[in-house]
Amino acid sequence: MRDELERMIDNIPSATREPEDTTDPATGLLICGKCHTPKQCRVTLFGTERLLPCLCQCEQERLKAQEAARQEQERLAKIHRLKANGLQDKALFAYTFDRDDGQNPAMKYARRYVEHWPEMKERGQGLLLWGGVGTGKTFAAACIAHALTEQSVPVLMTNFSKILNSLSGMFSEDRNKYLASFNHFSLLIIDDLGIERNSEYALEQVYNVVYSRYLSRLPLIITTNLPLAELQAPGDLAHARIYDRVLERCTPVCFSGKNYRKDNAAANKTEAARLLNE
Ligand SMILES: [Zn+2]
Repeated sequence: MRDELERMIDNIPSATREPEDTTDPATGLLICGKCHTPKQCRVTLFGTERLLPCLCQCEQERLKAQEAARQEQERLAKIHRLKANGLQDKALFAYTFDRDDGQNPAMKYARRYVEHWPEMKERGQGLLLWGGVGTGKTFAAACIAHALTEQSVPVLMTNFSKILNSLSGMFSEDRNKYLASFNHFSLLIIDDLGIERNSEYALEQVYNVVYSRYLSRLPLIITTNLPLAELQAPGDLAHARIYDRVLERCTPVCFSGKNYRKDNAAANKTEAARLLNE
């Protein structure tokens, strides 16, 4: 054992001497020509004193920076993967808080949700972004998705039409696996609740998704054009059991007033007109 250890130590290559390096006359140690700290240390092992290589300060810093760069690269690659998996609609990539024009007062709740994400996650607390068509609900939801993904939080943003489409070609075992896969995402965002088909089958699947989220205590954000009153008092039991779960975990945030999409369309038209008249 000892022999083996000694042989290993003997095999450690000695510190490389660069042209600018010097030898400290007092200690005999090799000194780095760049940072002027030792590249060697004196160690007594099994009664014998040896000169072993060590990391001078600039080398330590270089390795530290290299490791930090590697970790940063890994973090960015992870975010890239999360985005590719979680934001399936590539148009959503453009929806970020820095594009918010500050006109929509409801956006402050979206920002706060991101700021308080650890507490929201802990409580399984979601949001119900409700209001008329074109009031900025999808924009707000996508901003949240984006901001949390940037913090390496796995987020999936999808809609029930897509989920139902995927399910329709699957056997029941695969269906369960597919539905369970949503729980790999810390946050599930479902855009446009209420536009999916109203068949018994569709409602059953919507309920399964919502209920599975409810059981696992994971947050869910839902956007819907349906009025809150309708969610609170739906006409039938199939809808009631879905909406009850949603309302229990998702804080309603009203998006109202200005029709942003119409505004954008008007702006686009003027822009188009300007370009055409140029
Ligand atoms: Zn050095």
